[in-house]
Amino acid sequence: MDELSKQGRPVDEVIAELTEKRANDVKWADGKTFGMVYDGGPSVHEVAEQAARLYLHENALNTQAFPSLAAIQREVVGWTSALLNGDDDVAGFLTSGGTESILCAVLAARKRAAAERGVIAPEIVLPETAHAAFHKAADNFGLIVRKVAVKADYTADVDAMALAVNENTALVVGSAPQYPQGVQDDIPAIAALAQSVGASCHVDACMGGFVLPFAERLGREVSPWDFRVDGVTTISADIHKLGYAPKGVSVILHRTKELRKYQTFVFGDWLGGFYASPNMQGTRSGLPMACAWAVMQHLGIDGYVDLTRQTLINADKMRAGIMAIDGIKVLGDGQFHLVAMASDPDASGTPVDAFALGDALLERGWYHDRQTPPDNLHSTVSNTNSGVIDDYLTDLEACVAAVRGDTTDDRSTTYATLE
Ligand SMILES: *Cc1c(COP(=O)(O)O)cnc(C)c1O
Repeated sequence: MDELSKQGRPVDEVIAELTEKRANDVKWADGKTFGMVYDGGPSVHEVAEQAARLYLHENALNTQAFPSLAAIQREVVGWTSALLNGDDDVAGFLTSGGTESILCAVLAARKRAAAERGVIAPEIVLPETAHAAFHKAADNFGLIVRKVAVKADYTADVDAMALAVNENTALVVGSAPQYPQGVQDDIPAIAALAQSVGASCHVDACMGGFVLPFAERLGREVSPWDFRVDGVTTISADIHKLGYAPKGVSVILHRTKELRKYQTFVFGDWLGGFYASPNMQGTRSGLPMACAWAVMQHLGIDGYVDLTRQTLINADKMRAGIMAIDGIKVLGDGQFHLVAMASDPDASGTPVDAFALGDALLERGWYHDRQTPPDNLHSTVSNTNSGVIDDYLTDLEACVAAVRGDTTDDRSTTYATLE
């Protein structure tokens, strides 16, 4: 184990080494990474960088000491609620990301079920496509997960979910859209199911929260998913994804302030003083909150509509291009910005191994996440990929031809890592 240098090092030297360290990181700025980094363009970088400099050191743990951060949180939450058609009763908080928003929603549902219905062995009912963060939340907070297989089109099988709902159900989950194949669940049916037992209903719009409202403004057909749907109690929406803010910020919204109480923690019996905490964090960086505020102010609705138009052009083009290549296909009928690409079992000729294809694409600089079953390559398409889709499809066609009949021994799928 290396030890920290005793006498420290000059600024220039430190920064030079950090710069060097990044040499092997994915080169997202060239648009060849599908996910992880969301590039809203030069002026979005500029406004975020300046906001970051202003708020690098501020602490949102105590919003009495930093009233600007209370205002920033209130305003960003309010704008997001309005985008999601919430009324004045909707209340929420900023969190550090989608996972934390989901942890908050699951905890609130558990506490609500205990308080209102006396549930002591709470359960979550979710489709198998719901994000891994719900399993993390259940593991952390001691809920039983009832995981239900999805239909052939990868959307939630609500009839099957109905068989899993019972008097211990604290939360029923749907996604708009879900991550793996990017299709949207039937939120009205899921919310009605939750209501039938008095449970909470969470809509995971971590991906869709800053896409669907603008897709709707572009005249796309978007089936109901937001606070216009009766029975939806919480929604998560990640500003650090298609909201184009830098990492570390998401929104959790509750239908009412009363429901929001189930997520907060207040403690008055500590020698350190009265302690109130809205989410999972204690000390909270003001930086991502200020960046989110600045990026949203800078873009406005029109800016987001433009970015969404471009994103959907990219995704539609990618889907059409994949479908036109013999040997591969798109999984599910996703209409938005997520694309899962797999081998086409109905294709003529030698089969294509999706992971061997992923290796070949990576050699040409294209980075996809891998998932299974079935083995497939996942893309979160965004404005980041504007201007490269034609090149991508040319490389894709060449790679499909090159890997036909090849397989790779590496069958691992990695969405996140520990070290
Ligand atoms: C990204 C994502 C999450 C988790 O969010 P993090 O910001 O990675 O913690 C949850 N649900 C969906 C649908 C997502 O796309």
